[in-house]
Amino acid sequence: MSGKLHTIESAIEVDQAQGCGVTPQLAFSVDSTATSTILAALLERIDAGVIWLAPDGNIRSRNQASHRLLDGLLARVLESEGASHDVLDADGAPIPAARLAGLIGLGSKEAISGRVFGLAMDMGHIHWVSLNSFPAHALDAQMDGVLIVATDVTEQRVKSKRLDVALKIFQVATQGFFLLDQDGRIIAANEASERITGYVEAELIGQSPISFCVPDMRAALQDAVEQSVRSSGVWEGEFTAQQKSGASYRLWCSLTTFQSPVGKIEYSIATISDITEKWAAQERISFLVNFDPLTELPNRGMLDGWMDFATAEARRRHGRLAVLFVDLDNFKWVNDSLGHHVGDLLLIEVARRIKLVVRESDIVVRQGGDEFIVALQGLVDGREASRVAEKLLASFGQPIIVEGHRLHVGASIGISIFPEDGGDKDELLKNADAAMYEAKRAGRGQYAFYSPILNAQAVSYARLAAALRVAVMRGAFDLVFQPQLDAQTRQITGLEALIRAQDPELGPPSVFIPVAERTGLVSDLGEWVIVAACRQIREGLDMGFEPPKIAINVSALQLRSQSLTKTIGEAVVASRIPHRCLEIEITETLLMERLDEAREALAWLRQHGIVVAIDDFGTGYSSLAYLQSLPIDRLKIDGSFVRELGDGGGGVVARAILSLAKSLSLEVVAEGVETEAQAELLAELGCGFFQGYLFSRPITAQEVPQFCGWSGPTKR
Ligand code: C2E
Ligand code: CA
Ligand code: CA
Repeated sequence: MSGKLHTIESAIEVDQAQGCGVTPQLAFSVDSTATSTILAALLERIDAGVIWLAPDGNIRSRNQASHRLLDGLLARVLESEGASHDVLDADGAPIPAARLAGLIGLGSKEAISGRVFGLAMDMGHIHWVSLNSFPAHALDAQMDGVLIVATDVTEQRVKSKRLDVALKIFQVATQGFFLLDQDGRIIAANEASERITGYVEAELIGQSPISFCVPDMRAALQDAVEQSVRSSGVWEGEFTAQQKSGASYRLWCSLTTFQSPVGKIEYSIATISDITEKWAAQERISFLVNFDPLTELPNRGMLDGWMDFATAEARRRHGRLAVLFVDLDNFKWVNDSLGHHVGDLLLIEVARRIKLVVRESDIVVRQGGDEFIVALQGLVDGREASRVAEKLLASFGQPIIVEGHRLHVGASIGISIFPEDGGDKDELLKNADAAMYEAKRAGRGQYAFYSPILNAQAVSYARLAAALRVAVMRGAFDLVFQPQLDAQTRQITGLEALIRAQDPELGPPSVFIPVAERTGLVSDLGEWVIVAACRQIREGLDMGFEPPKIAINVSALQLRSQSLTKTIGEAVVASRIPHRCLEIEITETLLMERLDEAREALAWLRQHGIVVAIDDFGTGYSSLAYLQSLPIDRLKIDGSFVRELGDGGGGVVARAILSLAKSLSLEVVAEGVETEAQAELLAELGCGFFQGYLFSRPITAQEVPQFCGWSGPTKR
């Protein structure tokens, strides 16, 4: 700046004759060139004060701005009247008048650049100017005195003073401070922030304060901050953070963004403090109030709140709620004989197992001692509650190992259902408790419903499941075989294997197969069927009788984890029979639910020449597209559709299935054919195979050869 002024000034010639007027008006005379005129005019309009002093300090020439900037100072130099204001040096100390002339360059041969003077005004206000001066003979050897250029630096001084103070506060504050750039990255950090985060400033620079947050909460924090900043420009909150050492601590953070008029963030300031101690104390208190310190499960207080909310919610949605009162059977014995320490560890493990069984939205509470309460929400009916109770009992059935002791605890469970068994939490808890005593009385290790009807259902289901488990273990089943015939020739083309339980309590397969599916027994049961069917084929072959293809029903649950293909593969090898002796029937609905798992198994079956039939076709929701995409060979029309046939031209579904099968080139077996009229109509519509009481009920293995027209081993 001063360099530029210097050049301008050099271009000016000073007219002494005009210059020494009483009124120091524009006194620079310029030469005749246009440039000089313009420069003189500019000089008069700039903010800088320009003045030419004679060696004795008297003014020779000056511009307009020099009045404001230099009059006070010059009055002091000349000791003129009214020179009442102190002149200060850059540090604010008064300068004795005697030294002033020298400091502004009067009588000096040296140029002065950027020397700052303060002029103390009224009311403590200080006017600051920065001064450049140089001896006039530097311009022209004929000239004497000094040329001074002064600029107003008052505002600058105030600003930089403020910044100094701010920086000091920034550095010495006990709170951590960050200055962030427009992208939220740290560009400056104070000492406290280094202490809190464990990083030095150089490591902090470029990071976002959000990166201090523990990893699994970081995304959520980022969202919260962004949302708040977007709507209000600020964010304030706390989170669990990680120090450089890995130690975690609780961080409170307040973020203020500074935005441009168009709403773009220019920079931000973040304040942080470590609130770990305060937070931990609060957490501990709220934990003790709401949780059981041993098992860390919520306590009764929490349950009350949860139940109030859940009953209100269930009432609003017309839904159900279940309360399970769980009481351990042998806990007292463990506690008394092995000590409280073992008892405590046992309770912790029990709590862990219960939590594994229930969903996130349910609540598990330690009621006290060896009693737990499990409350389930969003139920359709009581059956889901019995399923959870079964799972709990099964999980307690596994021994718990505590300090080398193998403990069998077992539990009794009482169940009450909202709204049937109680309209509020107190009633539900009371009735679940009563049901629990009922379960204990009936023999330990059981569950009981408070309501008699549900209880009867649960008891019969539990009895059935238990009897089934025993039967599966013993293999106490038989296979019967129902013939399938060619629609044209009425020759036997195959046999469907159907299971029968030896224990009459299990009832027909339509009763116990669903129980097997729900209890997971179905894979063992299915394996038994496959092995038994293969063995029957082997026995026939050994007699010299070659039985027709045998169709085996499999539950789609068996398709899981390749257990089906593995079982078939092994059974076929063990019985030394070709794969193609078998056919597999899979129900449509179950197949649809497990399409992806099924695809692989179906491919394996196709590859080994095993025919696949879709059972009960028409009862599900198969789409043409999925039918086309699967390697299937036949459809079995459900008996219910066959029955509709012939009743005065009905049987729309059967007709539709037959024409669909035709277009997909699939074979069709009609099930449950009971009358000749049905058989004739089906044959007309293009159905290839029949199965039903019209031809034969399921028969025993011993009856099969004769039924197939086999006349016994040929005599050699
Ligand atoms: P499904 O596969 O549809 O079997 C046909 C059922 O219809 C058999 O009943 C059979 O006895 C019966 N049936 C055959 N012809 C006629 C008829 O003309 N009229 C009438 N009303 N019924 C007829 P079942 O043996 O009681 O089997 C019932 C269901 O149990 C079977 O239906 C099948 O889904 C399942 N099931 C049977 N055995 C097994 C098996 O070994 N494994 C699996 N997973 N399920 C099986
Ligand atoms: Ca079947
Ligand atoms: Ca069927």
